[in-house]
Amino acid sequence: MRIGVLALQGAFAEHISKLKQINVEAFEIRQLKDISGHFDGLILPGGESTAMRKLLGDLSLYGPLKEMIQNGLPVFGTCAGMILLAKEIEDEEPCFGTLDITVKRNAYGRQLGSFRCVDEFTGKEIEMPFIRAPYAERVGEGVNVLSRIKGKIVAVQQDNQLATAFHPELTNDTSVYEYFIKMVENRR
Ligand code: GLN
Repeated sequence: MRIGVLALQGAFAEHISKLKQINVEAFEIRQLKDISGHFDGLILPGGESTAMRKLLGDLSLYGPLKEMIQNGLPVFGTCAGMILLAKEIEDEEPCFGTLDITVKRNAYGRQLGSFRCVDEFTGKEIEMPFIRAPYAERVGEGVNVLSRIKGKIVAVQQDNQLATAFHPELTNDTSVYEYFIKMVENRR
């Protein structure tokens, strides 16, 4: 199994070391030639969605990656990655637009820009670091809500797409990765 991690900007190195921790092979996606070989899953890291979407276009990665996601490639977006996947972004055009949610960027205001909490993800209590995070204001019918914090939706799955508003790569827990790897295994 090989997982590609979009490595244009943001917290990609942390995802790669997390995957290594659970013995999954990971590689960086920096340019078009990096996605010419076979891979089984994709991670879109946190960072700055505005910068990432510009680079995706400039490097001609946008079209091929969107097609792969639409064809069922398992994808996991964290924070900015969740924004890239969202079908609707408040006050902005969508990027991939494949995940049927509406997100609000920087949704917790200045005071609560960054915080950590412990809450439930698929029935297990895990640590959730939020950094100028979004949340989902709306989810479509086919979307499964996996976590809520103070009533706000912060983790979702729709078929081959998993998204969290928080950063599991910045914790010692591996539950979210194990969940994603199961999605990848189920597809293979
Ligand atoms: N605020 C960032 C954005 O809107 C996301 C922050 C993050 O990924 N930690 O793209």
